[in-house]
Amino acid sequence: IKVLDARFVTTAVEPKGYPTDHTAEVAFVGRSNVGKSSMINALTGRRKLVRVSNTPGRTRTLNFFDVDLERGGVRHQIRLADLPGYGFAKASKADKAQWEKMITTYLEKRHRLEAVVSIVDVEVGPTPDDLTTLDYLQAHNRRVLVVATKVDRLTKARRKPRLVELSKLMDLPLEVILPFSSTEKLGVEEVWGALLDTFGK
Ligand code: GDP
Repeated sequence: IKVLDARFVTTAVEPKGYPTDHTAEVAFVGRSNVGKSSMINALTGRRKLVRVSNTPGRTRTLNFFDVDLERGGVRHQIRLADLPGYGFAKASKADKAQWEKMITTYLEKRHRLEAVVSIVDVEVGPTPDDLTTLDYLQAHNRRVLVVATKVDRLTKARRKPRLVELSKLMDLPLEVILPFSSTEKLGVEEVWGALLDTFGK
């Protein structure tokens, strides 16, 4: 799989700001600081497509990116939607309610949303917010791929057993949980492959 191009499209809060819904889209969700920005940069092979923020919870908008890919001589265009991270400590009740509305509105309106990538920290495992989000996605029949990031922090021998633990904690088949490391660029091919394979199913 080769990334031919990746570019920022737009930022939005409300549906009227969303880009047109004509391209197969994949949304990325996770608690803030889980490594979401780093993952999107690693997947697209661009160091600064998404700013890796040191201030958890700063991204309060939906950010859209277009990626041109090639696999086996076939070109694909995928739109990525970077959803604001949840679960940051300083959020007020009002902030949380606003976040929830932004996310649920997005997830309910997007017809070309083919899959949602739920990012978890392989060491931390799913947080209560992650589990709530998973339940919500499943209740709305969204296809979910879990990407367990920061696997570079585990010894190689610990990785597979930890993924098995995560699949039990999240009550999901092992096949939908993929290991990833942005720092070691591990899992890039597998995540793109899994996403492309789910399209249109
Ligand atoms: P976001 O808030 O979810 O977008 O998270 P960031 O991408 O900004 O990353 C949060 C922190 O985790 C930063 O200090 C990153 O350097 C670190 N980080 C992100 N991905 C990885 C990874 O794959 N391995 C390791 N060891 N650290 C990572």
